[in-house]
Amino acid sequence: MRFLLSLLLSTALALPPFVHAQNLPDLGESSQAEFSPHAERELGQSIMSRIRRDPAYIDDPEVAAYISGIGQRLAAATPETAGIDFHFFAVRDPNINAFALPGGYIGVHSGLVTAAMTESEFASVLAHEIAHVSQRHIARQLQAQSQIGALSMIGMVIAMLAASSNPQVAEAAAVAGSAAPVAAFLNYSREFEREADRLGYQILRAADFDVHAMPSFFERLQRSTRLYENNAPGYLRTHPLTTERIADMQHRTREERPARMQPDSRTFQIVRAKLRAEQGDASDAAAFFREALADRRYADRGAARYGYVVALLRMGDVATARAQWLELRKAADSHPMYETVGARVYLAAGEPEEAVRVLQRAVKKHPHNDLVRVAYADVLQQAHRHQEAVSLLSTLRSERPGEPRFYQMLAKSYAGLGQRVEQHRALAEYYYLTGSLPGAIQQLELAQSAKDADFYTLSAVDARLRQLRAQQLQEMKERQR
Ligand SMILES: [Zn+2]
Repeated sequence: MRFLLSLLLSTALALPPFVHAQNLPDLGESSQAEFSPHAERELGQSIMSRIRRDPAYIDDPEVAAYISGIGQRLAAATPETAGIDFHFFAVRDPNINAFALPGGYIGVHSGLVTAAMTESEFASVLAHEIAHVSQRHIARQLQAQSQIGALSMIGMVIAMLAASSNPQVAEAAAVAGSAAPVAAFLNYSREFEREADRLGYQILRAADFDVHAMPSFFERLQRSTRLYENNAPGYLRTHPLTTERIADMQHRTREERPARMQPDSRTFQIVRAKLRAEQGDASDAAAFFREALADRRYADRGAARYGYVVALLRMGDVATARAQWLELRKAADSHPMYETVGARVYLAAGEPEEAVRVLQRAVKKHPHNDLVRVAYADVLQQAHRHQEAVSLLSTLRSERPGEPRFYQMLAKSYAGLGQRVEQHRALAEYYYLTGSLPGAIQQLELAQSAKDADFYTLSAVDARLRQLRAQQLQEMKERQR
């Protein structure tokens, strides 16, 4: 709720007068009734660059990799998504919700993950959102309302997001823009919902998840709605679950073979425990896991203990966290996330060298696991071993040049080593990859004036700067057209 509120305040309220200044794409006249995939993508990108700066955006590589993995597996399971570049991300919000933005961006509330009992339940909601995107429901909904200008379209998308978790915010948006179109856009049409249910089901099935999870999760959500009365979880307000919809889903599963037992990925339970441990009051979260362990109420014992360790760290109870982590380590079922949390325990205890040792061993055990390698680079930095961090991060960067995080971390190590020109160059690429061209240019200008550059480095900086300035000019021209 807080997440969408601040997104709204930073974007929607500032919209009409400053649209170009804020770098929003020009969507053209809506009377042309053509909301192209390109315009959709640009709109999505501009919303996303705000989301990334929001404190509720979950900038946790382990959570991000998990959610993205499930999302991509679903998207790859159907030809309907061909040509769409999907991006999945998570925001910290206890409301059960997921939402699709224009351009293939799909956001998941942490509350959705913690409310799902199984991976297939979680996947069933994602599959539904993927179906909305693949059928271009947002664009079609926008086109259907051709009388409204491009600016109010943006406002509506933002308002839709905000409304999905807070009705009062929707009212604020309605005041800021014009009320009628906002109200009209809050929900997809029934026809679109039916289509997303049908295709979502096929996607879930093709990706080899348990299709029975779809009606059972939605039914459980509907049952819990009665307790909420007018304050239903966000997903239910944007996706009113009629008995008819659930009956349709059940009807579909009846034609399936009896429930195939899907072994849940342990990562689902561990990611879920992490999000639960980071939600709400820290000592409440710790108590939740302590009691679950004592009463043996858990889907996965290791995951429950892992959640306990994370909550204890949040509380600052490092001694108990360490004892629990040693317990977790004794268990036979090792997992990379158990190792990374171990490093966090030692960092919190003020023993960075021990944290380095934990992850050194982990990298040997999981040499191809990027998450462990990134965590290792992080502890090297915290132990002020910047030279080693730079060498590891440079390898990671050459393997995945499109990943902004590596540049951000490299900048930190270069700063630690006092290499100013490299620090600004790395930051420039970070800004570039996260969609801030002016930020990238500024960093390159700083790199130019740094005193520690040799001739070759300086010419590389100059060349890159010329390239980005040309791109900026081009984009400005396109916007004026
Ligand atoms: Zn829907």
